[in-house]
Amino acid sequence: MTAYLFDPPAVTTVPVEGRAEVFPVRRILCVGRNYAAHRREMGGDDRDPPFFFAKPADAIVPPGHDAAYPPKTSNLHHEIELVVALKGGGKDVPVEKALDLVFGYAVGVDMTRRDLQNAAKDKGQPWDASKGFDASAPISAIKAWTGPAPQGRIALSVNGQVKQDATVADMIWAVDEIIAEASKLWTLAPGDLIYTGTPEGVGPLVHGDTVTGEVEGVGALSFKVV
Ligand code: MN
Repeated sequence: MTAYLFDPPAVTTVPVEGRAEVFPVRRILCVGRNYAAHRREMGGDDRDPPFFFAKPADAIVPPGHDAAYPPKTSNLHHEIELVVALKGGGKDVPVEKALDLVFGYAVGVDMTRRDLQNAAKDKGQPWDASKGFDASAPISAIKAWTGPAPQGRIALSVNGQVKQDATVADMIWAVDEIIAEASKLWTLAPGDLIYTGTPEGVGPLVHGDTVTGEVEGVGALSFKVV
C-alpha cells in the first residue's frame, strides 16, 4: 500500500441532476475565442481559429457556493460558457464519434483576471494567472444528455441585468469539433470538463455582485462574488 507523506488532495466533484452519484473532475480544458462576436470584442483577427487553455480541477466552484473575488486584479470578468462533461476518452477521436464521449452538459463561468490577461498578452507570457486561479470555474449541476449537443440560448446577468445573451449554435467550433480537436492535443479521459468559450458581452464583476447564468435546456447557475 502506498504511504503518503500527507493526505492526498480530495477529488473535486460536481453534482449531477437527479442522481446521487457525483461527477469526479479530472481536468478542465477551456476554449478561447469560440464565438465570432467575442473574438472581435477581444480585438482578435477574424481568421484566427479557436484555441485551448486549462484550469486546475480545484478551480471549480460547485453550485450553491459563492466565488471569492481573487487577489491581484482590479478587473475580474465573467464569461458564460456551455460546459461539456466527458464519460469517455481517448486520443485522435474522429469528429463523428466525439459525442459518444459526452456524459452531459453544465452551465459554467470562465472567471478571468482581464488585467493580468492583457498584461500576459502584451508580454507574450502564459495565461495561467489570468485564467487558472482559485474559484475561477463556477459551474451548475451537470445534466446527463444523449444526442445532438445543446444549441439554444446562452445568457448571463449581473444583479438581474442581462450582460451576455447569445446562441450556442453560433460557436465557431461545435461540441463534436472541440472534442476532436482537444483529443489531437491531449489524451482525453472520463472526468474531463471542457468550457467551450464565451459569447460577446463579457464585463467586470465587483464584490457583492450576484451572477446568474443559463443555457437553454441544460440548466442555470447562480453565485455571489464575495
Ligand atoms: Mn472563456
